[in-house]
Amino acid sequence: DREQLLTLAQVPAVTQDGVSLTLAANISSLKELEAALSNGAVGVGLFRTEFLYMDRVRFPSEEEQFEVYRAVAQKLKGETLIIRTLDIGGDKQLDYHELPEEENPFLGFRAIRFSLERKDLFKTQLRAILRASHFGDVQIMYPLITSVDEVREANEVLEEAKSELAQEGISFRQDTKAGIMIEVPAAVAIADLLAEEVAFFSIGTNDLIQFTLAVDRMNEQISHMYEPYHPAILRMLRTVANSAKSRGIPVSVCGEIAGDVNALPIWIGLGIEELSLSAQAILPVKQSMLRTRASDCRKLLEDMFRCKTAGEVRALATQFYAEAA
Ligand code: PEP
Ligand code: MG
Repeated sequence: DREQLLTLAQVPAVTQDGVSLTLAANISSLKELEAALSNGAVGVGLFRTEFLYMDRVRFPSEEEQFEVYRAVAQKLKGETLIIRTLDIGGDKQLDYHELPEEENPFLGFRAIRFSLERKDLFKTQLRAILRASHFGDVQIMYPLITSVDEVREANEVLEEAKSELAQEGISFRQDTKAGIMIEVPAAVAIADLLAEEVAFFSIGTNDLIQFTLAVDRMNEQISHMYEPYHPAILRMLRTVANSAKSRGIPVSVCGEIAGDVNALPIWIGLGIEELSLSAQAILPVKQSMLRTRASDCRKLLEDMFRCKTAGEVRALATQFYAEAA
């Protein structure tokens, strides 16, 4: 039960045969960080900054953002904080800034596309993040990347922000890492190229599943087709993990599926180093880890790759822990 789970909060997440996984938190506010930390989160793998921009009357200033980012960084006491730059558009709108009506908002003007179009707003956010980097291990993550060009263009704005701050004599970490979300099939297909440009990958399975299977993640009529265990998804995850490994950059998973205990052998089998989870998923996943052998996960994953249907993959995943119990 809950109380028993809480005793695991400070226990390291290690399999029986010594493979460890960092279990970080997904948060969207300072308030959510409290819940994550009491559940034993090790750092923040995804700080969704949209909510800082929503529920207000205008874009947040550099100072307003900096205050929040710094507070989160300080509370983490040196543990990593990955701040995702604005992912507005799609399902998330701003009251004070009209975005064009779109037929397919998830495929539209959102995330890094918005930031690269509004470089003034983007630079304000990057300056705020950089200033917070002085107070902890703060890293930057760009959402919805589809090309090497986008990464380079975003990094150019980042470099401008850095030289401005340097000129103004404001403290920040010059070597602040910038990584990307892998959440579009195009990014998977060029993961080897992207790995040469960035410091880390974080796989956003929420969008990646939606785009790979062409299943709108908000459309209830087809929600039965939203299938994380689809062999196509497994293959994509493997491609990304292998590209990151060959380039020596860390790869994590931050979509909702990371909180599904039955999916755990997939991450361990693929050699993923970190999961970023909602607060309530951290301890159940850790509990499963403690009774799992990585060697069994690798074998299971081989079997999964021999499956032709999502149903078969899912059955293997479910059996794995059912048998262990
Ligand atoms: C994702 O797409 O998996 C993700 C983590 O980002 P969001 O849910 O905010 O789109
Ligand atoms: Mg996403």
